[in-house]
Amino acid sequence: MTAPPRDLHARSDWTRAEIAALFALPFPELMFRAATVHRAYFDPTQVQTSTLLSIKTGGCPEDCSYCTQSVHNQTGLKATKLMAVDAVLAEARAAKEAGASRFCMGAAWRNPKDKDLEQVCAMVEGVKALGMETCVTLGMLSAQQAARLMQAGLDYYNHNIDTSPEYYRHIVSTRLYQDRLDTLEHVRDAGIAVCCGGIVGLGESREDRVGLIHALATLPVHPESVPINALVGEGTRAVAETPQKLDPLEFVRTIAVARITMPGSMVRLSAGREEMSDETQALCFLAGANSIFCGPKLLTTPNPEADSDRQLFANLGLTPMPLG
Ligand code: SF4
Repeated sequence: MTAPPRDLHARSDWTRAEIAALFALPFPELMFRAATVHRAYFDPTQVQTSTLLSIKTGGCPEDCSYCTQSVHNQTGLKATKLMAVDAVLAEARAAKEAGASRFCMGAAWRNPKDKDLEQVCAMVEGVKALGMETCVTLGMLSAQQAARLMQAGLDYYNHNIDTSPEYYRHIVSTRLYQDRLDTLEHVRDAGIAVCCGGIVGLGESREDRVGLIHALATLPVHPESVPINALVGEGTRAVAETPQKLDPLEFVRTIAVARITMPGSMVRLSAGREEMSDETQALCFLAGANSIFCGPKLLTTPNPEADSDRQLFANLGLTPMPLG
């Protein structure tokens, strides 16, 4: 694994009451605490940039309410087959030239078939040979599949728990929360770094956001990366059922609480950034976010163009984090 050594064994005995108390702090106090923790663990002027490519889009049999790639959401998205290895490597080269240090590849599957996994392993090996970090998200994995990806040299596996255990059944019915936890355990046991976070603005309550952070911060080892997404998927059931958008300051609070409770993790500002003002993004960085996705798309979701990110970094005095 090429990720820098970080303290992922910080407290994992957080109680829900403690996390709820952090959420309830006066905003300036919460920001001060989060920024203090952030600078104790990281250079707060550096932000990791990653690029995400959809290597197999749409047609997913799972019914995640927020996802444009689910066959259960009528989003008009055209399903594609798994990309060829050469085409993926050409995209990785372009991302490297644009300054990305990590290349993430996502496939819309419930779980990968072994034949497809071999093709993904060839992609991982090729991207590693370019000198980049690799991350894939392929759905649920068996212990054997996780071990195979480790053997191919995979650095990170993304698998989000989405929301609190209690709210989960409102957003997915085709799998259980425990299925997610089982895959995370297989990934961890194989020695692959874990990228695991959630999505907010799904109509969940503050208590569910507390539950999401609690579930992440009490994993035996904290995830190396914690993506926090804001709901965006146009045409999805979640968007139809959630007319009221989450208050941006509540999003910032979620980032801050993630930073305080998982101090050694990269906290990633993920989907929803395109709809955020520069001021909200600046508050997220102040609250401890230190990773973003660059490039025009996040799988199927629009993302700010590289130029606007460069401008944002220049305005805020931020620099891309070097590969560690
Ligand atoms: S989030 Fe993943 S598992 Fe769920 S529908 Fe989308 S691609 Fe499938």
